[in-house]
Amino acid sequence: MRNRLVAGNWKMNGSLESVRALTRGILEGLDQVGDAGVAVCPPAIFIPEVAALTSGSALAVGGQNVCDQDSGAFTGEIAGSMLKEFGCRYAIVGHSERRNLYGETDDLVARRFVAARRNGLTPILCVGELLEEREAGDTEKVVARQLDAVLAVTGIEGFRDAVVAYEPVWAIGTGKTATPEQAQEVHAFIRNKLSEVDSTIADALTIQYGGSVKASNAEELFSMPDIDGGLIGGASLQADEFLAICRAAG
Ligand code: PEP
Repeated sequence: MRNRLVAGNWKMNGSLESVRALTRGILEGLDQVGDAGVAVCPPAIFIPEVAALTSGSALAVGGQNVCDQDSGAFTGEIAGSMLKEFGCRYAIVGHSERRNLYGETDDLVARRFVAARRNGLTPILCVGELLEEREAGDTEKVVARQLDAVLAVTGIEGFRDAVVAYEPVWAIGTGKTATPEQAQEVHAFIRNKLSEVDSTIADALTIQYGGSVKASNAEELFSMPDIDGGLIGGASLQADEFLAICRAAG
């Protein structure tokens, strides 16, 4: 059986006080979550606090991005070694908000992916199409291009024990979820594409779905054969709601 992972992407939300309360709330309900892994990705400045609160628990911590370089004059960036030093296990790369609001290209995302691996972090590689790309019938083309950019740099080995998150951009933060069938179709496409290169790595790959996942729709999404958990934005900001999603994956 593949590893399942539910990861909360807190984006740029919270205060020291609210982040402490949210972390404690999630920790309180963690023993009722089954086998699925659970992670949270706080704003970088709160990572030390969350890492300290979660130390010794099963709740993993991740960065929301990671620099493609290891040190030097890269204002505003955070190196993989820094995330690692503060207890992070994961690093999200290629989130659509980074791609679309901050102009991150496929190539830069691929380099960030490599930097995560180089520093012992598990990359969570986000891929997904814009609404106009879906409407033009280009979903698979876009997702293939985003995967190919990483494959070109790492080869299939880069995907060993990595995580891919399929996040249709039109479903992120919009309340519009892909149907389980729509999501499954793209998840199967991702797995089949990687399977053509190495079926063992592809079969073991955790592929999360992200895009307006809530407690009320998590179970039917996670019941699909190629959906191995979720990357959760808005609904990860409330401990009870997030825990219910985690239980649906467990
Ligand atoms: C996300 O930003 O990765 C995400 C899936 O957000 P939301 O759950 O709010 O749609």
